[in-house]
Amino acid sequence: MKSDIKLITDEGKRLDGRGPHDLRKIKIEAGVLHRADGSCYLEWGGNKVLAAVYGPREAVPRHTQNPLKAIVQARYNMAAFSVEDRKRPGPDRRSVEISKVISEALEKVILTEYFPRASIDVNIEVLDAEAGTRCAGLSAAAVALVDAGIPMRDIPVACAAGKIEGQVVLDLGKEEDNFGDADLPIAISPRTDEVLLLQMDGHFTVNEFNQAFDLALKGCHTVSEIQKKAILEKYQSVVAEVQE
Ligand code: UDP
Repeated sequence: MKSDIKLITDEGKRLDGRGPHDLRKIKIEAGVLHRADGSCYLEWGGNKVLAAVYGPREAVPRHTQNPLKAIVQARYNMAAFSVEDRKRPGPDRRSVEISKVISEALEKVILTEYFPRASIDVNIEVLDAEAGTRCAGLSAAAVALVDAGIPMRDIPVACAAGKIEGQVVLDLGKEEDNFGDADLPIAISPRTDEVLLLQMDGHFTVNEFNQAFDLALKGCHTVSEIQKKAILEKYQSVVAEVQE
């Protein structure tokens, strides 16, 4: 959507004061829920996301079971109060799509072959939404999976880059998402840079696409460090408690 809003000032700053290559502020906490097997609370700019993992547990109904590996079922949900105009509760086309792409991305890193006939369920609840919720949700889900002790090849991570006023920038905010030219959310396995998810909204030239991809990749690596720090913090405090 085009608008008269100026998304980049003459000094090259974005609406929230960020430079083109800056991420919004990110805060991650692992193990925040007591009844889930693993959980994570994540804030990413104005996004607030909670992820809870259950399993591996017997998949029900039984016809959903795979005798060779576990099924990974992510369910992305936006709370009715998470957006400006109240969102109608329950699944819609968008949330079904996001649940599917996140499930597929997580399945690529989880060692599903260890748990035949099981289900690993990942609930992602968006409490406050300000663009980039699929990246925030996937990154929170990854930490919750580690917290649940699910064996994985790597800790997946997601981040987006986009284009506003013809310029490639990292991590679009709400107005930038609404009035910008393009958005490119990706998820990777940071150890190998294998791409687990790649979606694109809007138009890039090939050169812009390459720039945006490289920028999103760098963003993923920054978020990955924050994820690892959150996991270490949780387990260092557990070790300290046990030692006491
Ligand atoms: N949004 C909204 N109502 C909706 C869906 C989305 O207000 O029903 C807002 C919300 O802030 C979201 C943003 O639009 O974060 C961008 O949505 P998009 O589909 O691009 O996914 P996201 O960037 O959150 O992964």
